[in-house]
Amino acid sequence: MLPDGLAADRPARSDRAYVTLVTNADYARGARALVRSIVLSGTSADICVLHTDVADRDLIPLRALGARCVRCDLLPTTAAFNASHARDALHGRAAFTKGEKPPFHTPLDNFAKLRLWQLDYARVVFIDADALVLQNVDKLFDYPQFCAAPNVYESLADFHRMNSGVFTARPDRATFADMLAQLDVPGAFWRRTDQTFLQHYFPDWHGLPVFMNMLQYVWFAMPELWRWQDIRILHFQYEKPWQDHAKADRLRPLIELWQAHAGDGRVPDSRTLQDPA
Ligand code: UDP
Ligand code: MN
Repeated sequence: MLPDGLAADRPARSDRAYVTLVTNADYARGARALVRSIVLSGTSADICVLHTDVADRDLIPLRALGARCVRCDLLPTTAAFNASHARDALHGRAAFTKGEKPPFHTPLDNFAKLRLWQLDYARVVFIDADALVLQNVDKLFDYPQFCAAPNVYESLADFHRMNSGVFTARPDRATFADMLAQLDVPGAFWRRTDQTFLQHYFPDWHGLPVFMNMLQYVWFAMPELWRWQDIRILHFQYEKPWQDHAKADRLRPLIELWQAHAGDGRVPDSRTLQDPA
C-alpha cells in the first residue's frame, strides 16, 4: 500500500524496482531513454517513475515501455529551506565550477528522491533520469542499503564523495520520516542537495565500483579509467545529452549512444564500442 499523497497508475509487479525521478518534461525525456535501457538489459524487476505534476503526454511514452508511474508532491519542506535551496540562492552560495547545470534543473526538486523510501517495494535501485543501464545490474537488489559509487570524474580526491545518481535502498516509512526530520532543520544548507544529505545520512555508505555509475566527464578527464566492457551504468552528470552544450563535441560517442536509446531503433552493444585512446 502506498501512503496518502502517492498515487500509482497500476499495482507493483515485483517487490523489487528500479526507480527514477521526473519533475518536468526534460527529465521525462531522459527517463524514456533510461527506462528503455533498463528494459533492454533484460530485468525481472519493476520499473517505477516517481513524478510530480508533469503533463500526461510526457508520461505516456514511459507507460508504453511498461513503467509504473507514481505521482507525488515535492517534500513538505519549510519556506526557509526552499529559499536557501532555490536555484539562484544555491548557485550563488555554492557555485558549480566544474560543469554547467542545465536551465531546466531545479535543485529543490532533487530532494523528492527521498520519497522512494515511501514506495511499496522491498528493495529499490534508484537511478537518475540522465543515466543509461548498459548491462544488467539486477544483482544490485541483493546488495544492502546503502550502496553508491564515488563521485569520480576528475581526480583521486573525488573518491571521498559519493554520487547519488545510482544507489541501493530499502523503502521504509520510519526511515523516510527520520530523513525528513534530519533534512529540514533550522539553518540547513545541503550544497549538493540530496547527494550531500544522503552522504551525511549514510556516512558509512558501501562503495560500488565506479563502473556502476560512470560519469561522462571521465571520458575526457580520466580516459585511462574508461573501459566500455566494464561500464554497467553511464551517467550524464552536468550537461544533458539532449541539450545543445559546450562539451558536446568532446562527448560525441556517448551522446550518440544516448540518442540510440532515446529513439526506437537498434541500440549498439556498448561493450563493442571503442575506448578512448
Ligand atoms: N530531477 C528532476 N528535475 C529537476 C532536477 C532533478 O526530475 O529539476 C531528477 C532527475 O531524475 C535527475 C536527478 O533528479 O536525473 C538529479 O538531477 P541531475 O541528474 O540533473 O543532477 P546531476 O547528475 O547533473 O548532478
Ligand atoms: Mn544525474
